[in-house]
Amino acid sequence: MRCSDCAHWSIARKTIYGDGSEIENGRCQQGRGDCEVLNQQTTWDFGCTSFQATDNWDHVVVTRKQGAPWQNWKMGPCPDCKGVGCHMVELRPACGHCLGVGQVRYYDDGYIADKTWDHPKEKEIKKRLRERGITDSASLNNPGEILAEFRKRDEGLFEGGTL
Ligand SMILES: [Zn+2]
Repeated sequence: MRCSDCAHWSIARKTIYGDGSEIENGRCQQGRGDCEVLNQQTTWDFGCTSFQATDNWDHVVVTRKQGAPWQNWKMGPCPDCKGVGCHMVELRPACGHCLGVGQVRYYDDGYIADKTWDHPKEKEIKKRLRERGITDSASLNNPGEILAEFRKRDEGLFEGGTL
């Protein structure tokens, strides 16, 4: 009946990506874990009436995402303007980093977008697309197209690539 044997108790969270890489998203202090029933942290030997036995689970909650870490991002407050964005009231110019939106992309691999918004790998892919004569913005902004090019690289079409 200990938490450390319970299916509701987790000590860490991680994300596994389509390219096989893993990123840990947080871990409790040694000996402690998150109980999803009590909605609080408990010590490993606490145990409560909601105990549910589990077999050989390492108590790490897994989230799966497609692609690589750099292909996943979520919006967060711009680090330059602290999420304020456009200063309509004070008539100051909009923040140049987030273009006044107040939010920028936080990539799963830890990269925070600069004012171009794109991950360096995405920039490199777009550069290569342009080198191959693909310049229309629809293609450049279409992740499917970019990923298709990425797969071509895997097939050796982009020889000597550093992606
Ligand atoms: Zn900003």
